Amino acid sequence: MSAAGSGPSDGPAGVTPADAIATVAVLGAGTMGHGIAQVSAAVGCHVRLYDIDQDAVDAGVARIRGNLEKGIERGKVTAAGRDAVLAHLRGTTTIPDAVDGADLVIEAAPESMELKESIFRQVDDAAPDQAILATNTSSLSIGRIASVTRDPARFVGMHFFNPVHIMKLVEVVWGPATSDGTRQTAVAFARRLGKEPIVVKDAPGFASSRLGIVLGMEAIRMVEERVASPEDIDKAMELGYRHPMGPLKLTDLVGLDVRLGIAEYLHETLDSDAFEPPALLRRMVEEGKLGKKSGRGFYEW
Ligand code: NAD
Repeated sequence: MSAAGSGPSDGPAGVTPADAIATVAVLGAGTMGHGIAQVSAAVGCHVRLYDIDQDAVDAGVARIRGNLEKGIERGKVTAAGRDAVLAHLRGTTTIPDAVDGADLVIEAAPESMELKESIFRQVDDAAPDQAILATNTSSLSIGRIASVTRDPARFVGMHFFNPVHIMKLVEVVWGPATSDGTRQTAVAFARRLGKEPIVVKDAPGFASSRLGIVLGMEAIRMVEERVASPEDIDKAMELGYRHPMGPLKLTDLVGLDVRLGIAEYLHETLDSDAFEPPALLRRMVEEGKLGKKSGRGFYEW
């Protein structure tokens, strides 16, 4: 089976090919950054992991070590594999040091346009002229972040999923100025990491959140209307549609506050009632019922 339709036209290969990417700078060592650093080091790239202070860098490296130890317990990683990944990693607390000589820079700092713009201004001053610049933003405009750089043709979204070392999907998001070569390299590099890339235009919510949030918001409206219990609504999707996890359990895992923020953004930018956050969601967030991280959401954790 193959799908009709297409993304941007395939152009010349251009820029650094994915298999020539030797040095990767990852900016932000949190939930996503540590995972992106881990999978990049696992394919033999030299990785510089940057965060704002040494404690944050150390915490990121400790999480990578923890993932690898768990992998060893499960028979998925060898001791030599763990040592090789750790040997390919170097932590740093300055952006110029992180991006010096980098072929690819992947930013995974908090979801704020101002912060990302400020980071990429610093990156642009210090990174090599041919480096590909990528952001892991889950919702912000790629075109707008790219506009602070000298050469937005080398700018692309690489949206990984949590936990990065396990989840297969990477959304490669092309902005209005992203070159075909940059897009192709991002797709090929995602494949080199063992991921399944999809190519998506720079539109609010990309492909994943735009669909996922509609389902999540509608499921919450169904709880509000007492159509069925959260367990049964989730079961409808799990057993009826083969989703590995129902929309309410997923909302608990992601965090009700995080999903509310994305829904508000999509409601505003796409101007569709499908994204309007239900009153129940707002109330639960106000009451501190944020899902798994607070111990209570649609389920008790
Ligand atoms: P996080 O809070 O776990 O980690 C962010 C890290 O960035 C922290 O270690 C923090 O110290 C660091 N940081 C703060 N200021 C910084 C700066 N000026 N420069 C560099 N680093 C800085 O956040 P996260 O969940 O890893 O999210 C990072 C990005 O990835 C966001 O854009 C988010 O939307 C996106 N994202 C998150 C998920 C998810 O499930 N958590 C999934 C996909 C994409």
